[in-house]
Amino acid sequence: MKHKKIAIIGAGIAGASLAHRLLKADYQVTIYEKNFGTGGRQSSCRIGKDSADIGAPWFEPKTDLFRQWLIGQPNVIRWHASHSDFSGAVIKPKLVYLSSPRQLSLTQSLIKGAMLYTGANITALNPGKLGVQLQRGRKKINCFYDAVIVTTPASQATPLLSPCPQFSHTAASTRKTPSWVVVISLKERSGIAPDIFSGPHSALFRATRDSSKPGRNSWSRKEIWVLEANTAWSEKHIKSDQNTIARALIKAFESAIKQPIETSNTRVYQWLCARHQTASTKHYLWDEETSIGVCSDWLNSSGSEGAWLSANALADHLLSYTRASDFYPVHNIAFT
Ligand SMILES: Cc1cc2nc3c(=O)[nH]c(=O)nc-3n(C[C@H](O)[C@H](O)[C@H](O)COP(=O)(O)OP(=O)(O)OC[C@H]3O[C@@H](n4cnc5c(N)ncnc54)[C@H](O)[C@@H]3O)c2cc1C
Repeated sequence: MKHKKIAIIGAGIAGASLAHRLLKADYQVTIYEKNFGTGGRQSSCRIGKDSADIGAPWFEPKTDLFRQWLIGQPNVIRWHASHSDFSGAVIKPKLVYLSSPRQLSLTQSLIKGAMLYTGANITALNPGKLGVQLQRGRKKINCFYDAVIVTTPASQATPLLSPCPQFSHTAASTRKTPSWVVVISLKERSGIAPDIFSGPHSALFRATRDSSKPGRNSWSRKEIWVLEANTAWSEKHIKSDQNTIARALIKAFESAIKQPIETSNTRVYQWLCARHQTASTKHYLWDEETSIGVCSDWLNSSGSEGAWLSANALADHLLSYTRASDFYPVHNIAFT
């Protein structure tokens, strides 16, 4: 059987889902990820000896398609979380889906069978007669791919997509919103009833007791909270330093729960591009000339589900090619 050689830039939910579909169809998939692990905006961090989710804390499917797919994944579990708004009013428990033991575990399992290069920040794509060649800094990677798929957030995609100016323009005109996230582990159990707080607040968007998520292997058994600032507050404090952010969000949380807390560990993250507002009417981008494609949340209604739908739409398109030679039409050495 002929193998098609595909490179995917980015190992978030879009890149990993696309890789999974292509691997199942016997493609040769290589993933280049600039971070040292998978997950992208669904990754986890260490806090003391434990870990906590610092990006999207769960999946909350809106379509049956996504829900059924999640249920079919071996490492996805359900969480009925107790829920309140920031004024303390109880809201009905929230049913969400988690990847276990961490949010990034799903991406790790989806890419099994692919070649993964981490710490690999791709800076340019060079389409040519032999295929598409990738570049890191000044160095061209010594390999030609039949197609390259960009799955990075819009800001990082803009320069990469310069061989397809229309795509680059779409990426550049997508609105991105930032988010500050503070992860805290408490010295003592708080006794707070709800596992999730959300709703109107001047600074906070959401607070989640990460250590209450089922299937988490908490080494220290400490209580861990993830405090997410809302978009307006994150935009207003975009240039603030991490200590100021930590103090402000912890104080806002203390005032919402009406009790002081003492932390044993604190981590602060700034996502400059946490979410997108889609500028495109297409759910994926594919350029026949250069064999460069794009899928990510910024092409489909934002969020994890949008990223997954975008990846699947592009996979459907790529897999609808029946002949390998259709893929990179002219001089494709990989198929000899
Ligand atoms: C704090 C936070 C909370 C969120 N909450 C929710 C929520 O409640 N519900 C929801 O649906 N969504 C939520 N989201 C958004 C959701 O996480 C994203 O929409 C989704 O994860 C996007 O997936 P993706 O694969 O398209 O992109 P990403 O996850 O960003 O993956 C892209 C990958 O590309 C890599 N990369 C970038 N540039 C390069 C390069 N040049 N070379 C190599 N690799 C590169 C990145 O490191 C990253 O791993 C949240 C996001 C954040 C940050």
